[in-house]
Amino acid sequence: MSLYSPSIEKLIESFEKLPSIGNKTAARLAFYILNCSEEETNEFVSAIVNAKKNLKYCGKCFNISDTDPCPICSNPKRDQSTICVVEDVRDIVAMEKTHEFKGVYHVLHGSISPMNGVGPDDIKIKELLSRLMDGSVKEVILATNPRVEGEATAMYLSKLIKPLGVKVTRIAHGIPVGGDLEYTDEITLTKALEGRREI
Ligand SMILES: [Zn+2]
Repeated sequence: MSLYSPSIEKLIESFEKLPSIGNKTAARLAFYILNCSEEETNEFVSAIVNAKKNLKYCGKCFNISDTDPCPICSNPKRDQSTICVVEDVRDIVAMEKTHEFKGVYHVLHGSISPMNGVGPDDIKIKELLSRLMDGSVKEVILATNPRVEGEATAMYLSKLIKPLGVKVTRIAHGIPVGGDLEYTDEITLTKALEGRREI
């Protein structure tokens, strides 16, 4: 039996479903919301609803965006001949923070992981290859995470892309092994990008 009323219990349960939120944090967040003004609460709710409603995938790079194509793909100042391949949309944010990369991106939405039943067809690999078919892309930078799955994905992609005559590079290590691009500081990420090597 719960000590809370059913509505509070329901709110706590909803927070608990979010990643890395335990029961105590969920309860804290629920009570925080209960203490918010109606205006603050409505703002929070509509932020969630609007994000779900308005955001879509960019048909080119699979970034999440309010527009299709996304602002990066449609920016004429970006070099369309260099594609940086990342696992997650949040990795784009990390790369953009460095202000060093002037090309465009491709989001795989995951990495190959046989252990978790994720094969090449489950992530946006076909879509990446089709972007390379017209010969306008000169370099593909593989910026998957330096974990087992990220490395395996990079090797797999390299084998597919090289025969197409496109230069394939891998960002340098310096990003801690097992680390996430998302949590890597800008200087380390800039160095990793500058020190990329052909594979
Ligand atoms: Zn895009």
